[in-house]
Amino acid sequence: MSGIISMKDIRKVGSIGIKTIVYYLCTTAVAIVIGLAGGNIFKGFFPILETSELTYNPSETTPFMDTIVGIFPSNFITPLSESTMLQVIVMALLIGFAIILVGDEAAPAVKGINSFNAVFMKCMELILKLSPIGVFCLICPVVAVNGSTILGSLAMVLLAAYICYIAHMLIVYSLAVNFFGGMKPLDFIKGQLSSMIFAFSSSSSVGTLPINMKGCEKMGADKEITSFVLPLGATINMDGTAIYQGVCAIFIASCYGINLDLSQMMTIVLTATLASIGTAGVPGAGMVMLAMVLASVGLPLDGIALVAGVDRIFDMGRTVVNITGDASCAIVVSNLERKKAAKKAAQSSNT
Ligand code: ASP
Repeated sequence: MSGIISMKDIRKVGSIGIKTIVYYLCTTAVAIVIGLAGGNIFKGFFPILETSELTYNPSETTPFMDTIVGIFPSNFITPLSESTMLQVIVMALLIGFAIILVGDEAAPAVKGINSFNAVFMKCMELILKLSPIGVFCLICPVVAVNGSTILGSLAMVLLAAYICYIAHMLIVYSLAVNFFGGMKPLDFIKGQLSSMIFAFSSSSSVGTLPINMKGCEKMGADKEITSFVLPLGATINMDGTAIYQGVCAIFIASCYGINLDLSQMMTIVLTATLASIGTAGVPGAGMVMLAMVLASVGLPLDGIALVAGVDRIFDMGRTVVNITGDASCAIVVSNLERKKAAKKAAQSSNT
């Protein structure tokens, strides 16, 4: 809800807002597809766990069409109590958009939601502080039963994720800035370098925001556009996180000997794209959201323990992708708006 409410200025910024949201949603959906594809390519290198503390009781898989129909809850309580993630997201989107449409009258609701968001984020932070102990306890029996090869296979998931991160930046962002941003991809990467280094070391999109804004303005993006596109992107646009979720979902499924079918993968694309709106731009947030993605296709949440120990390494790379996606959007939207203004000016000088 907080993510949606952060888009409240969207009506004021009109076509810039629409272009930004379309760009963010499309690139995130492509990112998760790349993540799933990368995970499937590397699947042969992922282990299948022998009997361990991590057990999985397969739930019935639902066809994708039923998933779409089923994302609309019949009431507001059951999805929360039964952790039906897609329904929870749909409720959040609905309430978030309604709050934006109501406007000033909804100010107390905005305050309340943002304040609860801060409280829940704090809870998450406190729980994450304990996670090293929890992860240690969960992973111990897995290593005891399966041997240290399971730890070696973590290197393969990391490699898969990093290859997908790089592929996404080289293919999607390079093409976007080249064709829609009027900028050479190499110049874009050069201009982004300092923000990328900062994101890599801080693992925080929000922390990288000031340096990313400066970088985009240096590359020629409009100040007005960057000051709308980048803060919004740091809140709702998480392509790197989406890639990570795709790769990890395949890895965890493979560890349990589960083959995800096409409809489950499409459900993952849908959930991860929507979940990225709610992922905070702070270290570790993507791992918490992974739980939501796994739950949406009935994968065992315990599996997160397998990747949690090396989450920081995943996080460094995914944050770089996250902020680079925001910057590419600022370049693209600035160029499109410039072209639009030039066209208008040419038309009015003709008349
Ligand atoms: N650390 C990431 C970011 O700030 C979010 C995540 O954990 O995926 O963009």
